Amino acid sequence: MSREQQAVACARKAFETGRSKCLEHRIRQLKNLRRLFTERQQEILDAVKKDLNKSEVGTQLYETVGLEGEINLVIGKLKEWAAPRKVEKNLLTISDTVYIKPEPLGVVLIIGAWNYPWAVTIQPLIGAIAAGNAAVIKPSEVCVHTAKVMEDLLPLYIDKELYPVVSGGVPETQELLRQRFDHIFYTGNSMVGKLIMEAAAKHLTPVTLELGGKSPCYIDKDCDISIACRRVTWGKYTNCGQTCIAPDYILCEPSIQDRVIEEVKKSIKDFYTENPKTCPDYGRIINQRHFKRIMAMLDDSTVAAGGDNDESDCYIAPTVLRDVKPEAKVMQEEIFGPLLPILPISGLDEAIKFINKREKPLALYVFTADDKVIKRMVDETSSGGLLANDCLVHYSVNSLPFGGVGEFTRGQILTVRVLEPLKQRSLDTLLVPFQFENVTVTL
Ligand code: NAD
Repeated sequence: MSREQQAVACARKAFETGRSKCLEHRIRQLKNLRRLFTERQQEILDAVKKDLNKSEVGTQLYETVGLEGEINLVIGKLKEWAAPRKVEKNLLTISDTVYIKPEPLGVVLIIGAWNYPWAVTIQPLIGAIAAGNAAVIKPSEVCVHTAKVMEDLLPLYIDKELYPVVSGGVPETQELLRQRFDHIFYTGNSMVGKLIMEAAAKHLTPVTLELGGKSPCYIDKDCDISIACRRVTWGKYTNCGQTCIAPDYILCEPSIQDRVIEEVKKSIKDFYTENPKTCPDYGRIINQRHFKRIMAMLDDSTVAAGGDNDESDCYIAPTVLRDVKPEAKVMQEEIFGPLLPILPISGLDEAIKFINKREKPLALYVFTADDKVIKRMVDETSSGGLLANDCLVHYSVNSLPFGGVGEFTRGQILTVRVLEPLKQRSLDTLLVPFQFENVTVTL
């Protein structure tokens, strides 16, 4: 029996004991998981620093704080969520008891990605534990140090028979995929997403695919360009652009392109100093393979800012590209790095056409002071989430589902739309470590 087969068999046997279904057991496991984040915080922070050069506060803000919040939410709500729910009856069943009882699926496989390694691996684990499942956890091998910390620490805190960790790379994942699971939750790129679906089809296993894609950002000329660019700069260069919902490219009218470039440059300097390479808040590309992939996208575009790089350090400066053509290399696939192409278009009509001609985005951003522009974007486009006048923050709203729609972004089943133009938010204060100031959008 291979190591992977053993892990699945062990999780299946533990699931069959029925202990994962017990509410107290689920809550105890979640509390233990929460304890891991407080007791072993330094090991977590050190490993993510080594993998992605993320600052301590960055890892807390984007990974562990959210996970602790998710655990708290689940612990608070679990009894209610797990309780049978009465449903409406018909004439025939009027005197019967009719209800829906939530049941765990069984043994779940969770395949994590490397860009927010804790968030994308542990978030689905919280759901799997909460719903009473066993889960085989496969951290991404690409974030070498974090994968090791997960492999070492998770078994010390949560039931290691119910939730075994399998480390390794592609062959190990492929071996896992040959096994039978009751659900597969995969985060990563869409090419591998297709392989996951293919493997799952053999056993008719349901899948959740959290994929990526190109998320457009339309900046209307009628908006506070300085604030818009400050927020786009934050959304783009956080984690060195390696964020699934990072604004991938900007669409704007030629008349504001120079202003947009100047404002993005100003914000880059504010956030990451004159020399981002030595700024502790600026990350690194995960490895040289991705470094080369990103650098190759620069070939046929004009650099308006940044462009410095150092392969030995996996460093690429925050970079802005101007007058980018739709046929340019940088527009052919998700960038997943710190390059920000600007594509001049004639206005809102063309922006909508441009967006609709391509795969449906995971996230779509629009910056404008005009509610009618927001309404048209909402009514005339389709995406996993639409956020007006900010970047990324819709991900933080627990009451919204998160996921995509269509080819690149098949995720969960719902389309989320965040409509309200955001004015001053508490999150701006939270972001102070990244040198954000309290800002107000004037609409
Ligand atoms: P990755 O290279 O870590 O791969 C993800 C997982 O797939 C790993 O565990 C790896 O072992 C496995 N894998 C890789 N090749 C495989 C193969 N041939 N067969 C079977 N398994 C294989 O991560 P990545 O794909 O580079 O991740 C980045 C992508 O993830 C981006 O496209 C990003 O947008 C997307 N992403 C999406 C979300 C979301 O929530 N929608 C979140 C984070 C990242």
